[in-house]
Amino acid sequence: MDRRDFIKASAGLLASVSATGAVAQDVVAGAIISGEKFSDGKPGDVSNAVSDHLKVDGYVKEPAHRIPVVASADIVVVGGGPGGVAAAVSAAREGASVILIEKSSFLGGLWTGGLVLPVLATYGRNKAGEWSKATGGICAELCDVLLAKGWAFNAESPRVDPEATKYLLDKTILDAGVRVLYNASAIGVTMSGSRIDSVLLNCNTGRLAIKCKMAVDASGDGCLFNWTGDPYESRRYHISTSYLMGGCKGKKIGSRTPNEDMRFSTIGTRSPEDGLDVFRVSSLLQKHRLDLWNRIEKLREDPVTKDVYLMEVAPTVGIRVTRVLNSLHNVTLEESMEWTAFDDVIGMSGICDPFEYKGRRITKKDRPIWQIPYRSLLPQQTSNLLVCGRCFGYDQGITWDAREISTCMVTGQAAGTAAALSTAYRCAPKELEVKKLQQKLREAKVRLDF
Ligand SMILES: Cc1cc2nc3c(=O)[nH]c(=O)nc-3n(C[C@H](O)[C@H](O)[C@H](O)COP(=O)(O)OP(=O)(O)OC[C@H]3O[C@@H](n4cnc5c(N)ncnc54)[C@H](O)[C@@H]3O)c2cc1C
Repeated sequence: MDRRDFIKASAGLLASVSATGAVAQDVVAGAIISGEKFSDGKPGDVSNAVSDHLKVDGYVKEPAHRIPVVASADIVVVGGGPGGVAAAVSAAREGASVILIEKSSFLGGLWTGGLVLPVLATYGRNKAGEWSKATGGICAELCDVLLAKGWAFNAESPRVDPEATKYLLDKTILDAGVRVLYNASAIGVTMSGSRIDSVLLNCNTGRLAIKCKMAVDASGDGCLFNWTGDPYESRRYHISTSYLMGGCKGKKIGSRTPNEDMRFSTIGTRSPEDGLDVFRVSSLLQKHRLDLWNRIEKLREDPVTKDVYLMEVAPTVGIRVTRVLNSLHNVTLEESMEWTAFDDVIGMSGICDPFEYKGRRITKKDRPIWQIPYRSLLPQQTSNLLVCGRCFGYDQGITWDAREISTCMVTGQAAGTAAALSTAYRCAPKELEVKKLQQKLREAKVRLDF
């Protein structure tokens, strides 16, 4: 099969998914090849090539069936990671009814389930040249509680206890009045023209539908904008698995956590991978677990580390980036480096790493805080969808900042607030008066100015 046939076949496969209610779309053709390399030399790749494992070998037909509508809400948020929690809480605090759909049994996404414990990119250089805080709002609110309770340490990049964080996220969500559906995977949407009518989900009851006025894609993998057929870019990154070790008190292994006895570390490869290739990700996971067990056995042979044991392998595999929205305006590397002020700013990102820019090595301390425009959360076609977290619209070159937990919460808070305001004003998010959104975000202590 040549490449063109292959793309056609893949589009056919995806079209067949429409039997579930998802809109038939050639999502493969929606992706973009840029060939651009990640600017700081870290593994990363952009490609629309579908992995060999996912080559189509015929079709089966699913019988048409009716899916019961079991609930409705102003806003349905798909995904309960840092982005989704911030979106759901901020929308509910604005008075909207919110249902959050989460395929695992806890909140926090990669933060808690991926055992990715440090909240990075909260600081950067401000316009006055000082190293200063970039993120406020819900991110600061959660981190302040975690730090005050001793469930995290390091004010600049709070490194958290994962179970305490799950507790705090559940409590925050409950206090805000959000309904969470755990162990429920969103599997598609139904549409009327350019609007999402309902989100379909799968749980052990079977398939269910939830009606909504607005939807927020906080799935990390852009599931919703893939189903709606909005354009996006496919990116590949290395995949890792994090783990916790116990019995570490006084030992120099792994990275510290708030619990002296518990350390965390990561195992993985450095080659860019397709995080949506279920075959490849599954075999990587098996390899990580086997290698990890052997790594710990080795440690236990050493008299100094003989009491160290494997406490937990992250239940969520460490997939960094897959689909990234081609939004109304993707934030560019240049904009992030040149103090670009957006009229529609909805928050700011701090800095994660140093990198090369225009032939110069820019240290972390020299990198500016950068603004995030509202348009980077808006898809090109679907009129009642907002996107947040690691799949909102940004350049490959700023991936390392844009997907950090704090930036995910900043985009989540803006998406949730905008969804609630659009519901209240009965307008499409694209038509929302940005000044009203900015005013609400400022009231919620989100930082908008450099
Ligand atoms: C190995 C690794 C190390 C990292 N290190 C750091 C670090 O040190 N500091 C830092 O700040 N960031 C780090 N990151 C990045 C950061 O953890 C993520 O980018 C961030 O958690 C993304 O948040 P999110 O809400 O967009 O997505 P996620 O955290 O991926 O959450 C998405 C949620 O959506 C759910 N979901 C997905 N699809 C569906 C569906 N169809 N139906 C229902 N639910 C669904 C998932 O179960 C998940 O809970 C790291 C990432 C990795 C992989």
